[in-house]
Amino acid sequence: MTFFKRIARSTTVVAIVAFALVAPVNLASAETISVDAGGNVNDSRPITGTGQNLPSMGATSDIWVIGPYLAPVITSYYSSGQALKDQSEVSAAALKWTRSWVKKECGSTKPAKVRACKAAAVFDIDETLLNNYETFAKADPQFTIVAADFAAANANCTTPVIAPVRALFDAFKKLGVTSFIITGRAENDRVSTETCLAQAGIVGYGALKLKPTGNTQNAAARKSGQRQALIEKGWKIGPSIGDQISDMTNGSMQRGFLLPNLMYYVP
Ligand SMILES: [Mg+2]
Repeated sequence: MTFFKRIARSTTVVAIVAFALVAPVNLASAETISVDAGGNVNDSRPITGTGQNLPSMGATSDIWVIGPYLAPVITSYYSSGQALKDQSEVSAAALKWTRSWVKKECGSTKPAKVRACKAAAVFDIDETLLNNYETFAKADPQFTIVAADFAAANANCTTPVIAPVRALFDAFKKLGVTSFIITGRAENDRVSTETCLAQAGIVGYGALKLKPTGNTQNAAARKSGQRQALIEKGWKIGPSIGDQISDMTNGSMQRGFLLPNLMYYVP
């Protein structure tokens, strides 16, 4: 289904959205689809998502923001609760898949055994664990990047947690799966990022991998390299959870779980 058809669909589920706004986050049910990673992926793995992401438009570097033209559609998607519902569905699918992967990989779902077999997951930060929607929505023009606003949001931790993804992070901890965080934020932002994660209740991860100073790789290449370095230390990486295809391409993981992002695309 195309991006625009998905948008149209999202406007027809007012009743479901209303329910989602008052219901607790439910990790028990999932309605997700297979996502096509596109033709430029070196080592593709299956990806599960909701279809609520931007196409690449041929971008090969930097960041491609959607801008103000579609602002009412984007605002409706996030403020209606549909984004939260879709984030819950992807999280539920990730937990279900990871339980069965762990069982196969470690021969057990007992936390001590899962920890001993070095089962791991990877999480991204922005639009995965923490939410920048308010900063993008307040930008002028809307859904463009005002660098100073983003720097302030990160420094002041005005980036709310994405609750169903934090619930997934916690569920992995219970299962004995070690979560690593791999982000496009810069090494210079380590202290503020660690502070904001802790403030959001995200604690007990294996390591936080930021973009090294001077690194010029695109996100897909850099993040897959950072995953590979973990594998070389003996970790088995099952799921990679992010809001960009580039969080889960070029291999060094088993399955991608793609959270929605209607605001920007990172190659
Ligand atoms: Mg992200």
